Amino acid sequence: MEDRLISHMAGSYDLIVIGAGPAGLAASWRAAQRGMKVALLERADHVGGLAASFDVVGVRVDQGSHRLDPHAPPELLTDLRGLLGDDLQQRRRSSRIRVGDEWLSLPFRADEVSRRLPASLLARVARDSALSAFRRAESDTYAGVVRSRVGSALYDAVYGPLAEKFWGMSGENISAEHARRHTARLGTWRVAARALTRGRRGRADVGGYYYPRTGFGELVETLSSAATDSGVDIRTEAEVDRVRVTEDEVEVTTQDGDAITGGLVFSTLPLPVLARIARPAPSLTSIESSARLRYRAMILVYVVHRGGRWTRHDSHDIPDPRTPVARISEPVNYRDNPDDPTDRTVLCAEIPCSMTDEVWGLDDESLADLVDETLGLTGLPGVDRMHVETRRIGQVYPIYRAGYERDFSDVDTWARMIRRVVTLGRQGLFVLDNIDQALLMAYDAVDAIRDDGRFDRYAWTVARERFHRSTDPPV
Ligand SMILES: Cc1cc2nc3c(=O)[nH]c(=O)nc-3n(C[C@H](O)[C@H](O)[C@H](O)COP(=O)(O)OP(=O)(O)OC[C@H]3O[C@@H](n4cnc5c(N)ncnc54)[C@H](O)[C@@H]3O)c2cc1C
Repeated sequence: MEDRLISHMAGSYDLIVIGAGPAGLAASWRAAQRGMKVALLERADHVGGLAASFDVVGVRVDQGSHRLDPHAPPELLTDLRGLLGDDLQQRRRSSRIRVGDEWLSLPFRADEVSRRLPASLLARVARDSALSAFRRAESDTYAGVVRSRVGSALYDAVYGPLAEKFWGMSGENISAEHARRHTARLGTWRVAARALTRGRRGRADVGGYYYPRTGFGELVETLSSAATDSGVDIRTEAEVDRVRVTEDEVEVTTQDGDAITGGLVFSTLPLPVLARIARPAPSLTSIESSARLRYRAMILVYVVHRGGRWTRHDSHDIPDPRTPVARISEPVNYRDNPDDPTDRTVLCAEIPCSMTDEVWGLDDESLADLVDETLGLTGLPGVDRMHVETRRIGQVYPIYRAGYERDFSDVDTWARMIRRVVTLGRQGLFVLDNIDQALLMAYDAVDAIRDDGRFDRYAWTVARERFHRSTDPPV
């Protein structure tokens, strides 16, 4: 199936992109470089989506812990180096995870594990590892797949509690698809467990990453400048609330009543939102299926600590079920930036939740108290709090509850049939992608627009199959 674009009708765009996160920015930039007339519409008053950075009392912070995977495809890394130059720093990971009553390094170190983990847990891990060849991998739940790959000991101590926190449900109710996409992450534990039983010392993974000097958001800021320089018409505070498809074009309307038309639309909107605002509307069945596709929310609590660095680590993962905080990161430790202040630092605590949870309604000081309690519970140093601010993100991860595949397939099949509209990005394809995957999707979508202006649905289907087979990197 092919969609022909309208070429440069007066007042009309070749391509309208909805959402200026990494996927939307990269798609607009690449399309403009190919000579297309592009408009990019963003609901927020800034670009960057989940990958944007912002200032908290003069310290640049991210929306939760963000790193760029060093194994991203070379073509992409070359483009990012071209945009960021020396600001794209290569860093060594210095993260930790709480297992039982101990903090362990990530990437995992077998020697440290053998010294620090309680003997009873070590014995269970060693037993699981020895029996790993006999475990069966088939299962249709996250818990089943992870247990079969890393064993019950590590599942009970780490993966089960983390899954419950991140997804708000037991691993028994999460689809196996989620475990499949985390293969690489599971691998580091498996290698470490094997190293442990064979008495080998050393790391399971070298754990490097890339990070821009002034915050992860520098990446999307430079992408945005490049898109503007290439002629993209970027409009912020433009929340799209109608996408109307006609025979010859698509009309996109924003909440304040502005309407623009184009030959093709790339939507990075959450699929359920597209199902609600698209005309012609989907069938009742697709609308019902889209209502069952759920996203997890997240509160980000930024606590400013008076008195320089808090720890030398970039992040601390916290499976401990006694606190809803899943991770605490310290943004200045992700980079080497002489311009960062030295008399204060910021801690960023991630609290995955649902918008109906009590924690969602807590005020800033109560959330900061919750972070203080978490530090005490997990043996982390206390903070001398000089300020707190919070951000609430309503849709942060798609929830892969067991059986979600059927609902997704219903809605996705409808979305694929909409003429002149292509869905992509984290929310558009209901995937838990990283930025490199979001950028590659954007590249592939633009590359599927042929020189004669037709959108090659077959090439796009092949590209989507590739994303589907790829797994999340262990960043
Ligand atoms: C806590 C956390 C940690 C992460 N860690 C990493 C990491 O370490 N490494 C990594 O590579 N990635 C990481 N990611 C993922 C990364 O942030 C995403 O992959 C990336 O931002 C996805 O880009 P996107 O463009 O698909 O979606 P988004 O960033 O979600 O962008 C979508 C955009 O659409 C806009 N929009 C929504 N509705 C409308 C509307 N009606 N009209 C107009 N605009 C609209 C939104 O405002 C947003 O700007 C992390 C994400 C989170 C939340």
